[in-house]
Amino acid sequence: MKRIVVGLLCMWVAAGVADARLPAQQSAAPPTPIAAADLAVLKSEAAKDVDGMRVFTQQMVDQVFSYGELGFQEFETSKYLTGILEQNGFSIERNYAGIPTAWVARWGAGHPIIAIGSDLDCIPQASQKPGVAYHDPLIDGAPGHGEGHNSGVPLNITAVLAVKKLMAQRKIPGTLIVWPGVAEEVDGAKAFFVKAGLFKDVDAVLFSHVDNNYDIYWGDTNRSALVSIQYDFVGESAHAAGQPWRGRSALDAVELMDVGWNFRREHLRLQHRSHYVIPNGGDQPNVVPSSASVWYYLRETDYAHLKQLWAINDKIAYAAASMTDTTVSSRLLGSAWAPHTNKALTEALYENVKAVGMPDWSEDDQALARGLQRELKVPEIGLATKILPLHGVDVIPDDDKRGGGSDDIGDVSWNVPTVILNYPANIPLLPGHNWANGVAMATPIAHKGVTAGAKVAAMTILDVLTRPEVITQAWEYFRNVQTKDIKYVPFIEDGDRPATWLNAATMEKYRSRMKSYYYDAAKYPSYLAQLGIKYPTVRAIAAR
Ligand SMILES: [Zn+2]
Repeated sequence: MKRIVVGLLCMWVAAGVADARLPAQQSAAPPTPIAAADLAVLKSEAAKDVDGMRVFTQQMVDQVFSYGELGFQEFETSKYLTGILEQNGFSIERNYAGIPTAWVARWGAGHPIIAIGSDLDCIPQASQKPGVAYHDPLIDGAPGHGEGHNSGVPLNITAVLAVKKLMAQRKIPGTLIVWPGVAEEVDGAKAFFVKAGLFKDVDAVLFSHVDNNYDIYWGDTNRSALVSIQYDFVGESAHAAGQPWRGRSALDAVELMDVGWNFRREHLRLQHRSHYVIPNGGDQPNVVPSSASVWYYLRETDYAHLKQLWAINDKIAYAAASMTDTTVSSRLLGSAWAPHTNKALTEALYENVKAVGMPDWSEDDQALARGLQRELKVPEIGLATKILPLHGVDVIPDDDKRGGGSDDIGDVSWNVPTVILNYPANIPLLPGHNWANGVAMATPIAHKGVTAGAKVAAMTILDVLTRPEVITQAWEYFRNVQTKDIKYVPFIEDGDRPATWLNAATMEKYRSRMKSYYYDAAKYPSYLAQLGIKYPTVRAIAAR
């Protein structure tokens, strides 16, 4: 209940007006300047080293794919990845921010401090055999990497190992921090990482995310800020036929809330997005449901608009409780600011994208891509072969925003200069959050894309380590442009805790069967080989 009251009270508090924190302070210690020619040598050595780690990278991508763990339940994934980092000299802080699957890996000393992150959770009911261009789950109904989050942390690990070697050889000072985007699909962790101080002294954040091309941009985006809230209604049970007048249905309240919201939708800003599921709708029809819950994602362009939207939803929840003589309380399960990426860091990264170029796709890779596109009845354009142009803008006028997905990297990006490396490791024109988005994610398409992305990441980390002007310009943009008029105020408040119970029951249901599909890199050169899948497997085109 507390949450709802707070939400209503804060309705008119605009971002930046109340108790805004100052942005993190950048340390004065400058990185070691290195001549441009020397940096070019370092970058080419790093790229060569990443190429040499191709098999290692492929094994990590396949291993994490095979774990297929949902948000807050990434136990095998985190154990495996921290094990690799630990073997390579990183110190690991586990159970970070009170989240059992969260960790922070550190190596090196002093500034610059670079925090390198990527997500690692998967999608419900997205189980899919890799390399197969039609819906063919490994386990029907089980979770799977239907977004490709199995690839990002492996990319980061390969990149930091290449950089770490050069730092040790050439005595380049600095600290590398590797961190996981736990529970990104429910925007559940990054605001808590910020609150716990993970980014406090960090000079720059490099965040990697799977894509079907290098989609590199800086500044404002069309993506939305998000709050994820569960409303729990409580009524009174009764025999639904014998004495229904004695019951007070919590499910009625949920349904009335949803109906109310769906009518109100017409009178909301066009920029808003909202959607819900009913995780608890009662037990059986002859028992009036005494408890029922509905889980909403609310999205708006910025903090102030989202707080207003949230207050409207709270009001409708109260009204539904009032109509049904039930009570309601709410819990914040996740949140995200709309991301804003850093201009100087992004420009530096894009130069490395151009130097590395697109992966070299084989005819088999293209055949899988076209086969899947045919299956989904979208244009058969195959894989991307041309790098997208760099784009960016300081501010997109609010009227031009259409709303879209969210990522809690947004919270990080408002606390420290952040660059996002979207790398080409998947097939274009897929629906997202779907089995189809997992098809390529343990095949040569993902393996090559991650190797290419790891080169870009390693080269960009070297830029940050050795070119003081990159950090200086990054912080100038961060202070004088990005946060000039907008200061970060987190959506989470003191009473909010990470929703670490989410997905536990689903993983419990499937984990024992999923274990028999874990990748065994000691026995099989690839996950495709372990599963005995011919690459690529596409439907035969019917004779016309
Ligand atoms: Zn994602």
